[in-house]
Amino acid sequence: MGEFLLEVRGLKKYFPLKKGLLRRTVATLRAVDGVDLAIQAGETVGLVGESGCGKTTLGRTILRTHRPTTGEILFRKNDGSVADLAKLEGDSLRAIRPQIQMIFQDPQSSLNPRMTVLDIVSEPLVANRLAHGAERVARVKQVMEKVGLEIKHLRRYPHAFSGGQRQRIGIARALITNPSLIVADEAVSALDVSIRAQVLNLLQDLQQDFSLTYLFISHDLSVIQHISDRVVVMYVGKVVEVAPTDDLFAQPLHPYTEALLLSIPKPDPRNRIAEIFLSGETPSPVTPPTGCYFHPRCKYATEQCAVAVPPLQTLGTGRQVACHFARTLNLRGVASG
Ligand code: SF4
Repeated sequence: MGEFLLEVRGLKKYFPLKKGLLRRTVATLRAVDGVDLAIQAGETVGLVGESGCGKTTLGRTILRTHRPTTGEILFRKNDGSVADLAKLEGDSLRAIRPQIQMIFQDPQSSLNPRMTVLDIVSEPLVANRLAHGAERVARVKQVMEKVGLEIKHLRRYPHAFSGGQRQRIGIARALITNPSLIVADEAVSALDVSIRAQVLNLLQDLQQDFSLTYLFISHDLSVIQHISDRVVVMYVGKVVEVAPTDDLFAQPLHPYTEALLLSIPKPDPRNRIAEIFLSGETPSPVTPPTGCYFHPRCKYATEQCAVAVPPLQTLGTGRQVACHFARTLNLRGVASG
């Protein structure tokens, strides 16, 4: 497994759709459909795609909130040994949980309004029996300082904080167990633009201080560009492109990535691109199209695309793409205008 902290191989998460009195399975929703993904220690990998593409399900399956249908989730533990999270259950899974934490999208709903900051932040310590009494309080104070919360607010309730402060409480809770991997799912999407920048900068500072590795899930490409070392693009449960961030933004290799990039809203209305680059609906993961899933929306599609599934192939240093014509298409990035 080399120096990777996390390596996901052939991961699938299917949900059966049941109907009728006998709850018969009538269809299958392929939320995550054979994903390979590797994350190095200390890296930030941005996971991007439209809503419903499976990125949140992928994050939750890695965290083992969902049980995978098939595949491996290889995670390098603090002691250097590698565990397949996909196969762990019960106590052995619980023992690893402190090393992988999550930051949620909505700080309002992810914090229990009846619990104080002390109780919220120390919850993972208590649940995993890692600290109690004075040590619990000391560790909460320590992490509150790290995330920019005032210690005098230790016994306040979430409603007394602003949105940005509530997200800092969520970050403190994720950090309290000294994890090595944090899955951040739309962690700044609910915040105002100015607060968003502060929280992103905080996450970057914390990455240095705590030697963190991030899987950063977002539909917002400007956030992904700001924080990620590499980007993974998902479409209908599959990875369609992987690239270092600068390369992906300067020259995408997959038509879906190009369409996403060109659809980023421009701050200057005079420079708004009038053309619509991504038309049509995302296909249902219950009945995805044949061949390349993107072919009904792709302006470069040929007859081959409707019948043959493009494999994810390596193309250049650190780049992977699933498109039959990735070698010949000359796609537009945003950095190159
Ligand atoms: Fe478009 Fe065909 Fe490439 Fe799919 S394989 S992205 S349909 S050109």
